[in-house]
Amino acid sequence: MNDIFKAIGVLAICLTVCSCKQKEAKEEQVRAVESKQPNIILFMVDDMGWQDTSVPFWTEKTPFNERYTTPNMERLASEGMKFTQAYATSVCSPTRVSLISGMNAARHRVTNWTLRRGVSAVRPPKGLEMPEWNLNGAQPTDSIERSTHITALPQILKDHGYETIHVGKAHFGALTTPGENPKNLGFSINIAGHAAGAPGSYYGRQNFKKSLDSDNIWDVPGLVKYHGKDVFLTEALTQEAIGAIDSAHRARKPFYLYMAHYAVHTPIQGDPRFEQKYLDKGLDPIEAKYASMVEGMDKSLGDIMNYLDDSGIADNTIILFMSDNGGLSAVARGGEPHTHNKPLSSGKGSAHEGGIREPMIVKWPGVTKKNSSTDNYVIIEDFFPTVLEMAGISDYKTVQTIDGQSFLPILKSEGTSDNERALFWHYPNNWGPTGPGIGASSTVRKGDWKLIYYHVDSRFELFNITNDIGETTNLAIKESEKLKQLAGVLGNYLRGVNAQMPTRTDTNQQVPWPDAEQVINQITN
Ligand code: CA
Repeated sequence: MNDIFKAIGVLAICLTVCSCKQKEAKEEQVRAVESKQPNIILFMVDDMGWQDTSVPFWTEKTPFNERYTTPNMERLASEGMKFTQAYATSVCSPTRVSLISGMNAARHRVTNWTLRRGVSAVRPPKGLEMPEWNLNGAQPTDSIERSTHITALPQILKDHGYETIHVGKAHFGALTTPGENPKNLGFSINIAGHAAGAPGSYYGRQNFKKSLDSDNIWDVPGLVKYHGKDVFLTEALTQEAIGAIDSAHRARKPFYLYMAHYAVHTPIQGDPRFEQKYLDKGLDPIEAKYASMVEGMDKSLGDIMNYLDDSGIADNTIILFMSDNGGLSAVARGGEPHTHNKPLSSGKGSAHEGGIREPMIVKWPGVTKKNSSTDNYVIIEDFFPTVLEMAGISDYKTVQTIDGQSFLPILKSEGTSDNERALFWHYPNNWGPTGPGIGASSTVRKGDWKLIYYHVDSRFELFNITNDIGETTNLAIKESEKLKQLAGVLGNYLRGVNAQMPTRTDTNQQVPWPDAEQVINQITN
């Protein structure tokens, strides 16, 4: 009998060993797949300015770096690479459509912010009629009028095995179109995203609605379990995001988290967790509210990083930190501006640096050098090919032409100081508030130089950005040869992508290209 028991024992041990080995092999296989496909988090902040952080992005620390408290951005920068010249467009939708499509705004034609189907949210300024821009945003189909048909970035990731998670502000397509729902653009999960680009309220007590008494287009969808509670929207979205990536991790699926905060967009409402601190520092009430929203956003970044550390997946997770346009420095609704962007000129809606230069950080464990920094410039459409290359995806097809260039060589410190590359902005629209650099315009940045062409009066501004980051000295007359050269580069590009120009109401003629003879003669004569 003893022998039988011994035999059974040996058999049991064998089976256990075999099963363990099988389990180990399976885990090994999963690890191999996981290591091939890193998790990717794109942490996108709304309307955050270049100086709205304690991380210095200029050559020196500014008073604004002292004002704001963003320890988790500091932590991310210490673990990754800081981009000092990262660009987006100057308003929400063009940036978000470029990000999800890889196209420049001049090509995708969603050149202004979107909301209602077939309706431009902003009226044209005096003297111009706007072109038929794509006011219905990005769409997964060619059947929607006034929109751009795209193969969306998350769709490609999803098709290659990623769990694609959308949390927060979408703002890709107009109300009642397919593009208003992130799920129609390749996200497998959508938490709180829809057509509108701002929240009704940041307060759970307010159900994240503009008014408790009636429904409104700005009311944040979903998040019902937080309604009536003392929770700030930024915190609710963070908890939801961590829950979603935890589910993906447990299911052993690589994930793409698009953590698109509504913060720090208007309405400027204090985050009670941090507001008093800034009042005590002597900031005025609006600035204190804004600073508390920035710190709440930063805490979200920290909470997500802590989750990655605690769950042992930080080493296989890439984090890209970005904002979608400059800080709102224009005086909104008669109040004081809550942010300033200095030393940059102007802010949201402007072609000046304050409208388009963004705080950007990338951490890619094992690839980016810790605490590194680059002055190479990048623009928002570059994220599309970069994210796909990070995910190891090269066999994809898109219905649209991709304008973005992968910035992997920069992350790997293999170059490129490609100052010969030109970056382009095209805004044949009206934004509303006034200020330096605000108005319908086309812009090119090439090397040290930046040329802005204003549509309403064919006026130019030419700046040497390297020497004059605040864009204080217009060199259009003094450097007329440089102006002509850049006007040619800009004109060729705009014609090449079939860009739309506004019409002058006095002549009923299309605004001339920046390199048109009559435009150049007017400057140089
Ligand atoms: Ca924005």
